[in-house]
Amino acid sequence: MNLSIELIHENALKELDTVADAEGIKELYVRFLGRKGLITQFLRNISSLPEAQRPQAGKKANQTKKALDKAFKAALKKIEAGSADSGNRIDVSLPGRTAPRGSLHPITRITQRVCDIFLHLGFDIAEGPETETDYYNFEALNVPKFHPARDMQDTFYVSDNIVLRTQTSPMQIRVMEKQPPPVAIIAPGKVYRCDSDLTHTPMFHQVEGLLVDQNVSFGDLKGTLTAFVHQMFDDKISLRFRPSFFPFTEPSAEVDILCVMCRGKGCRVCSHSGWLEILGAGMVHPNVFGSVGYDTSRYTGFAFGMGIERIAMLKYGIDDIRKFFDNDLRFLRQF
Ligand SMILES: [Zn+2]
Repeated sequence: MNLSIELIHENALKELDTVADAEGIKELYVRFLGRKGLITQFLRNISSLPEAQRPQAGKKANQTKKALDKAFKAALKKIEAGSADSGNRIDVSLPGRTAPRGSLHPITRITQRVCDIFLHLGFDIAEGPETETDYYNFEALNVPKFHPARDMQDTFYVSDNIVLRTQTSPMQIRVMEKQPPPVAIIAPGKVYRCDSDLTHTPMFHQVEGLLVDQNVSFGDLKGTLTAFVHQMFDDKISLRFRPSFFPFTEPSAEVDILCVMCRGKGCRVCSHSGWLEILGAGMVHPNVFGSVGYDTSRYTGFAFGMGIERIAMLKYGIDDIRKFFDNDLRFLRQF
């Protein structure tokens, strides 16, 4: 033990200067102030010094011990503060965080596609209120109060006279009230019925179509719908018209298309019939023209309506209508 306490002090401070992390400072603690550290050893060896030197050496050693302890602690504090600082610092060279990109909801996509097809066929788009008076939703469409056809639809009543529209057909009346023939419109939008299961939701989307002019025939209806189906699905999909009943059309038809999944062979989607029902249509009932004052001896017209969800389910092969409204991103990201 030849080193003087001054030299130990000096060496400790020199080494402290070269240390850049907490680990290094802890190591210095052990080497200088630990149980086997240089200062500790110096203190232990004081007893071997000549008696006259002992008090002075002991005092110096204790002062050095305190000074180094203070210097180590200060250096450690500085390093810790520095690392906390760097956590808050903004690194302008880092690549930016990009916001996730959304996509159109499948219902929106199909609605836009349907509208596109009919716009190219010369139809205009008409939109209207989702809460309707009983008159527009029923009476003007040849469904008077207590008519049995009202049982066909489970209606949400807001009050005796106000309903959430059960169909987009009220738009036919609103448009025809405002303009004389010719009329060619489609009306997309939300409709409401008190119904919920695998293929029904209380709110769903419909597109209604209406064309009124002189000499409009059922053949025009068939041609229009065939053109639509061929563009929506593909031109090998055939259609069939089955006689049906709607109060606002006469004659009325339900329209089936060849099953898009099995092409007519029969599968689970088409209940092994080879056909899928996709819309209802017919020639506008003279009573409906009566409600808006159109001359039934001059004008005829056709109307049709279809569910957007139904088309989307067939187009994308989706088996549960509720998936459209769950807002599950894993589902929505696929479109
Ligand atoms: Zn099928």
